Amino acid sequence: MVCVHTTVSIRHGVYLKPQDRPGPCRKHVYCTTCGQIKYSGGDRPRDPGYFMNILSEIERYINLEIKKGIPMPRITAVQKRLIARAIEESDVFVDTFSVTGRIQKDVFKRLVRHYTPNLPGDLIESFL
Ligand SMILES: [Zn+2]
Repeated sequence: MVCVHTTVSIRHGVYLKPQDRPGPCRKHVYCTTCGQIKYSGGDRPRDPGYFMNILSEIERYINLEIKKGIPMPRITAVQKRLIARAIEESDVFVDTFSVTGRIQKDVFKRLVRHYTPNLPGDLIESFL
């Protein structure tokens, strides 16, 4: 079950060191129900629609390359639908309370590669 998250005010937040870089402790808000720390850094999480737009951009790029005569693995409509459903059902897109953009990008990359195994990972990464 997904927690609806009840947060304490920042005044009652906890002091924590940044996890991704050196720096001083900063106050963080947390959920009083599940104990998750709310992510408040600059690498903010996005809606599923943001990632579906990226998928469309990748598809557009592939179609242009194919037009130029460069062989590329096409993304089919069915693959797109399966990827969209997997994104919508994935925890990091359903509940973004403590999720960073990087975590979502890695999950997105894994899901796209799962349904389009011939698509190079660095091609996907270049659109993120
Ligand atoms: Zn919670």
